[in-house]
Amino acid sequence: MSKRCYYEILGLARTSSGDEIKSAYRKAAKEHHPDRNPGDATAEHKFKELSEAYEVLKDGDKRAAYDRFGHAAFEQGHGGRGGAAGFDFAASFTDVFDDLFGEFMGGGARGRGRSNRGSDLRYDMQISLEDAFKGRSAQIKVPSAVACDVCGGTGAEAGTKPETCPGCAGHGKVRAQQGFFTVERTCPKCQGRGSVVRKPCKPCSGRGHIQTERTLQVDIPPGVEEGTRIRLTGEGHAGHHGAPPGDLYIFFSVAEHPIFQRNAHELYCRVPIGFATAALGGTLEVPLLSGGSAKISVPEGTQTGHQFRLRHRGMPVLKGNGAVGDLYVEVKVETPSKLSKKQKELLRAFADNSDGAQPECEGFFAKMKEFLSGGG
Ligand SMILES: [Zn+2]
Ligand SMILES: [Zn+2]
Repeated sequence: MSKRCYYEILGLARTSSGDEIKSAYRKAAKEHHPDRNPGDATAEHKFKELSEAYEVLKDGDKRAAYDRFGHAAFEQGHGGRGGAAGFDFAASFTDVFDDLFGEFMGGGARGRGRSNRGSDLRYDMQISLEDAFKGRSAQIKVPSAVACDVCGGTGAEAGTKPETCPGCAGHGKVRAQQGFFTVERTCPKCQGRGSVVRKPCKPCSGRGHIQTERTLQVDIPPGVEEGTRIRLTGEGHAGHHGAPPGDLYIFFSVAEHPIFQRNAHELYCRVPIGFATAALGGTLEVPLLSGGSAKISVPEGTQTGHQFRLRHRGMPVLKGNGAVGDLYVEVKVETPSKLSKKQKELLRAFADNSDGAQPECEGFFAKMKEFLSGGG
């Protein structure tokens, strides 16, 4: 029997992108999946064809070999198993099931040797810097597949039980001749479970789980950072046919704050001060992320860019047993820009009497004079 073109099987053009290949495969594989077409040999054959085509086209190297040599790329005598274009049938099936069926079958078809555990879920949550500081508890709604309680997750109609799979006698794997090799692969009848359901449970259509939405309580610990993730064990998708559920991972991002910038457990804050305060010294009131404010005493002659450190006024350290980072307040001296006539007069009077008051300016001026007179 001559083999059909892999692109044709998936209904794709040769120029299709990886994402197009994946989505075409998912769509077709769902339709022809043996679980949805029990006892249908045509669907089973189509499903096998699809999986084989996808296995090659999703992999850049295999796809390139196929584009160049066609099916011959994966036949005996052309590189053979383990060669650059080698096609390991047994491995490929596990691989396909892992990255695809894990997602839409609730992890059901991972092969009997491995766990039938449900797939993990990811939930992205953005929180404010204040929440990251204090921690809080939040309620989230998670779309998820939960075990069907009518059949207890087996997928078999109430009063019936899944039967030992006739295709593999319950082993979950079948051996097939591939050229000179005997390869073992996941049983296509039962997807490696070793059992089949004759009369599917109606509420879950034999899948053993139903789609629903759950409300979960999440405790956000103080000190959460951008990229922090927490795992809620067992809160992922239900396992297929009674297997344990996957986990739920919450990935945090922390929104920008209008006043504070954060670097791990340190906080930074830029505060403008008037030039008279900077020159004469005084008190500066600065905000705290915990709420309220603190007073900093500004010494005489404070320059722009000077940082004041407030110990333990920064961010709590995640799981740090109460350790808290520092807050750095950087001052920016504001040059007056909207002066009244009277103010200008006062400043001119200051400028006329400012000898020795601005050592940096005077020092630079002296250096410049020396440089220019030195013939440079
Ligand atoms: Zn059910
Ligand atoms: Zn089987």
